Amino acid sequence: MGTLAVLALGANLGDREATLRRAAHDLADHPRITLTRASPVVRSKPVGGPGGQGDYLNAVVEVDTDLSPFALLRACQEIEERHHRRRVQRWGPRTLDVDIVVYGGLRLDEPDLTVPHPRAAERAFVLVPWALMDPGATLEGRSVAELARRAADLGGLGPDTVPLLGELPAPGGDGD
Ligand code: ATP
Ligand code: MG
Ligand code: MG
Repeated sequence: MGTLAVLALGANLGDREATLRRAAHDLADHPRITLTRASPVVRSKPVGGPGGQGDYLNAVVEVDTDLSPFALLRACQEIEERHHRRRVQRWGPRTLDVDIVVYGGLRLDEPDLTVPHPRAAERAFVLVPWALMDPGATLEGRSVAELARRAADLGGLGPDTVPLLGELPAPGGDGD
């Protein structure tokens, strides 16, 4: 048993749903990451960044890992790269974003990694799927569901959700 971390996945280019699902399988296939829960997929309007971007699909997953926070970030970035993430413009459109929302109860503020994610507490596109996955979740002592209800971008979320995964992939499984 390692540390439970919550990761936020987002995509607004390409086959967004397939990319999110493959990314979840990529995480599950990592030898030092076990996928323990996955949220439904929500649709959201882009927040910040350049105008004219397409809608996002977003989900969160909970993982159990013995990777350090930095090694977990590296694993997330490798998965982004595998799905052709290109950093062109801050908050610009992307095939896949994988962020660390929380890593156990750790607080960290380093140049390349801040946890909890500094913008998670105000992002409905993170909070809503997180609360759907884990209704009792808290973020620094505050209810994630309550934070979701107060998030400014809540109105940009679609009412419909679709499952990310039918069932959780087995650890190190052969899913794509
Ligand atoms: P945002 O952080 O607002 O969601 P973004 O996800 O689009 O923006 P990226 O281009 O994916 O930003 O990442 C920029 C940098 O953020 C990364 O190189 C990484 O080092 C840093 N970073 C800091 N904290 C985190 C975190 N908790 N999760 C992921 N990346 C982080
Ligand atoms: Mg992000
Ligand atoms: Mg990111």
